[in-house]
Amino acid sequence: MPNPIPYAINRRDDGLVIEWDRAGHQALYPARALRLACRCAACVDEGSGRRMLEPAVLPADIRPVSVALVGTYGLRVQWSDGHGTGIYTFEHLLAACPCERCRGGRATRGEGT
Ligand SMILES: [Zn+2]
Ligand SMILES: [Zn+2]
Repeated sequence: MPNPIPYAINRRDDGLVIEWDRAGHQALYPARALRLACRCAACVDEGSGRRMLEPAVLPADIRPVSVALVGTYGLRVQWSDGHGTGIYTFEHLLAACPCERCRGGRATRGEGT
């Protein structure tokens, strides 16, 4: 399967809205959940895969300050807590897409509708 590339990415204070295509497939990735999902070496221990980032230390009003494309495969988010080393690949983002259609598809996978 080719690398997914979003049609549009919109930064909002409450998260990122990613449009996957022009047909209306889009989803809001909530800021806090996205920040917690960061897989960089500072947030996840590379050896053990253990999460180093404690949800309790994250500011409640965490928000993305800026978003930059990383090649054609992902994006880097600069967060209001000063963090900005994590790269979110489109593959991971699409796999974790929080829209109703994808969530439903994952929940009922294999059963067909
Ligand atoms: Zn990180
Ligand atoms: Zn989706």
